Amino acid sequence: MRILLSNDDGIFAPGIMAMHNELAKIADVQVVAPANVQSGGSHAITIRHPVAWRNVDVNGTFRGVCVEGTPADCVKLALGGLDGRKPDLVVSGINAGLNTGIHVLYSGTVAAAIEGAILGLPAVAVSLQLYRDMDYAGAAVIARGLIEEIIQRELHPREVWNINIPENKPGWPRGVRVVPQSIQPTLDRLEKRIDPTGREYYWLGGDFGELSDAHDTDLRAVREGYVSITPLQFNLTDTGRLERARAWTWELPGPAGA
Ligand code: MN
Repeated sequence: MRILLSNDDGIFAPGIMAMHNELAKIADVQVVAPANVQSGGSHAITIRHPVAWRNVDVNGTFRGVCVEGTPADCVKLALGGLDGRKPDLVVSGINAGLNTGIHVLYSGTVAAAIEGAILGLPAVAVSLQLYRDMDYAGAAVIARGLIEEIIQRELHPREVWNINIPENKPGWPRGVRVVPQSIQPTLDRLEKRIDPTGREYYWLGGDFGELSDAHDTDLRAVREGYVSITPLQFNLTDTGRLERARAWTWELPGPAGA
């Protein structure tokens, strides 16, 4: 088994180190990750600048490829540019902070996994709730176990699994729930401020920690102390509406003035 490991917090982040150390027990792990923090960068790719990379030693623990680019760039580079055997699986994380609900769409962690899926591989994104003294090592043990289960059951190309792990407090995690992604909007807080030259600007904040959900979703499962697992797809087509819209008669408008 060969695993490509990436993230959006950068190659020197504690989460990717913990994930590397656990995955190395079950696979040959290649790390290709951004040089800088790319959180909230979603599925951006670098097309107007060159994408530089270099081999780095990460805290004497592993060697990896450090990329001056986005998470999606890293996966593209790993699967297309760097030489080496094709991996069997792409893993992204462990992210510092949950990627539940609509955060899935803002997430660079999930984007790296999705990029792997677009390029024909199975992929897993792993995120850990933000809290004091985050236990990445413990989360990595949980994630590795779940990844092993996925490998044993079904590892299909182009399929993404999104795993979110709650904070480590007594009795947590209480179990695993397979749940859909929440579609609740984030509780944004737009703070209007004035810069030293007198211009107005906004600072986008928000108390993401207070979100929950009336439905049984990833957001709620993690709030209730469970590890959430959500199967994701990157094909955004609404198939129900596709069928309905196909049954309509669509006509281009005639020439102006006719
Ligand atoms: Mn991040």
